[in-house]
Amino acid sequence: GVPGVESSNNTIAAVLSKWEKKFEDEGIAEPKDSVRNIVLHVMGGKTFSELDQHSGVEMTPEELLETDRLCECRLARMPVQYIIGEWEFRGINLKMVPPVFIPRPETEILVDVVIAALPHGKECDNCSIAEGCHVHVLEVGSGCGAVSLSLIKEHPKVYCTAVDQSTTACRLTQENAIAAGFARRINVIHAKLSEDGTFNKALGQDKFDLIVSNPPYVLSKDMLALQPEIKLYEDLRALDGGVDGLRLIRPLIKIASKLLRHKGRLVMEVDPSHPEAIKKWISEEEQSDLRLKYEATHQDYSHKP
Ligand code: GLN
Repeated sequence: GVPGVESSNNTIAAVLSKWEKKFEDEGIAEPKDSVRNIVLHVMGGKTFSELDQHSGVEMTPEELLETDRLCECRLARMPVQYIIGEWEFRGINLKMVPPVFIPRPETEILVDVVIAALPHGKECDNCSIAEGCHVHVLEVGSGCGAVSLSLIKEHPKVYCTAVDQSTTACRLTQENAIAAGFARRINVIHAKLSEDGTFNKALGQDKFDLIVSNPPYVLSKDMLALQPEIKLYEDLRALDGGVDGLRLIRPLIKIASKLLRHKGRLVMEVDPSHPEAIKKWISEEEQSDLRLKYEATHQDYSHKP
């Protein structure tokens, strides 16, 4: 062959477009971003614009092979976050390890709601919150640590107790906390919330100012319809909420009623059907020892409650 003609198939630009087309043909979600993230990872770059700037650069045989391997994983529906082993969430670079739940765009809303609910500035200077004016947050089901670490990063007084039933998740939360420089403000505990609303382990803190959770809330009937990326690779314990999706939400509400200090809040991401169901359930339980009152429903990016 003519020197240069064959190898021109190996430029970054050619490899990007070859795999983007393949992903499209195979119905892979987000074909363009998938291949761009993979090639960026292989080439050791940081931003997509670096790829564009160097699009004429020839990839080495090793880089081509690695790109191939990783793109084949994407063809097999592995989420790109697991393929490249990291993901950025609110400016924090998080290590990602399967099957630990990958933070979703919607999870940002959860963080926003919590940040808005915490005391700030002046209010914080003379508030009565906790000792030494620390805000004690409990996160139930911390996964990779995205929510807790965002709260620590974005609110100077937040201290987190992060609980997860998965040892892999606990290790990942801890590792990500250390990498982000927040290890001193987080206490990671391997514990499980049972359906009767108790933890199998002490949490080292009597009361919390706020409890946050993105619990498993998918209704059993919706589990089958989850995309293969989720079904094949993510820990279903992070998603499966049982028949009505409330399997762990009810215990969360019960434990919140015990662990929250006066005027504390529980903030959860739930299924669109849940706000009404939860309101109803709380009012039915009023006769018992629940001390909670339903406060507000927020909407996600597609205006679902
Ligand atoms: N709808 C969410 C998802 O699949 C469910 C997450 C959850 O159960 N916490 O992304």
